[in-house]
Amino acid sequence: MIQLSDRLQAMEESATLAMSRISRELKAAGKDVISLSLGEPDFFTPQFIKDAALEAMNNNFTMYTPVAGYDDLRESISEKFKRDNGLTYSKDQIVVSTGAKQSIANVVMSCVNPGDEVIIPAPYWVSYVEIVKVVEGTPVIVHAGIETDFKITAAQLEAAITPKTKMMIFSTPCNPTGSVYSYEELKSLADVFEKYPNIVVIADEIYEHINFVGKHESLAQFPKIYDQVVTINGVSKAWAMTGWRLGYIGASKEIADACNKIQGQFTSGTCSITQKASIAAMKADPAVLNDMISAFKSRRDLVLSMLNDMPGVITNIPDGAFYVFPDISSFFGKSYLDHKIENANDLCVYLLSEAMVALVTGDAFGDPNCIRISYAASEETLTKAMTRVKDALAKLK
Ligand code: PMP
Ligand code: GLU
Repeated sequence: MIQLSDRLQAMEESATLAMSRISRELKAAGKDVISLSLGEPDFFTPQFIKDAALEAMNNNFTMYTPVAGYDDLRESISEKFKRDNGLTYSKDQIVVSTGAKQSIANVVMSCVNPGDEVIIPAPYWVSYVEIVKVVEGTPVIVHAGIETDFKITAAQLEAAITPKTKMMIFSTPCNPTGSVYSYEELKSLADVFEKYPNIVVIADEIYEHINFVGKHESLAQFPKIYDQVVTINGVSKAWAMTGWRLGYIGASKEIADACNKIQGQFTSGTCSITQKASIAAMKADPAVLNDMISAFKSRRDLVLSMLNDMPGVITNIPDGAFYVFPDISSFFGKSYLDHKIENANDLCVYLLSEAMVALVTGDAFGDPNCIRISYAASEETLTKAMTRVKDALAKLK
């Protein structure tokens, strides 16, 4: 019998992808399921990006690409970092990958040895912990609750650092909480990292443009820790290009070279056509995203106001991304018919079977009191879904 590796067996299936798979299966079986489980914009890729892809194909950009990405793409990313984030990354400090997920995996594989500790503030995005586990690093979870808008403080960070700490991974705007770190909050974390120059920080900024509080702040802007920070970004969210698979890093030359080496053995350069199309996205004025951002903001307001109308549901105000992460722990211990709610997972199963709404349990994001709602759906769909959720919750006694 085939024995799968211990490494594989220790790994969890991605809860976000699992929930979206289950809802796809239920839909295929004719069920009227509304899936708010996947973090995926419901907009289509802008036409000018698709045109650039067609042009690339017609010009025969169909062959293997340089592992780190075409030069002209990396130059356009370098300019984007300067224009949007005030960050200076030369072309050779940039590595383009098959999605930001691969970018993160490359950096973790490049830096983390077995037994190294990786600080991951919770709530966190599902894949961080699993990627660290695959390389036999030790995730060190630092909890931030709803009372601090799900953000960790400098004191919490410093208390978690040990001689074995190699890395920290976090996202701002955050998936799953929508929390956005301010300049001052990042500065206070930067002041801690400055004291520990061997710690690498992955700042996952993939939701940078989906931010309702003004200017996005990057951790790498603080000169004393610039070399320690790896800035992650990609085209999936802002440009509605989840299926095209392109993410990238800005990093020290040493880490960029390491990621280039790893990627050369695993996947090579990402899709040639996607790369050429992404140049158009990088060069576009981010102001073209304003309509999408305001659509997300009004959806957020709609979902928040409906949630705030449900007794027992507690929310923060998510300032970015497209998720709400309500605390639903007041329902633990309640039941309806043969559904007994002991935890967030039970509540998700209940809402899927009773309300036909697919959400993701907070356990997957390191907070067992919460559930994640992705509001990347039309206002009509969101209203229908939230009404169903409200009715189902009201039945729990
Ligand atoms: N980081 C975060 C926080 C995300 O939500 C996602 C969503 N998929 C990713 C990284 C990976 O994005 P992708 O691989 O599609 O570029
Ligand atoms: N990042 C998205 C999410 O959190 C897409 C799914 C995934 O890549 O895990 O839902």
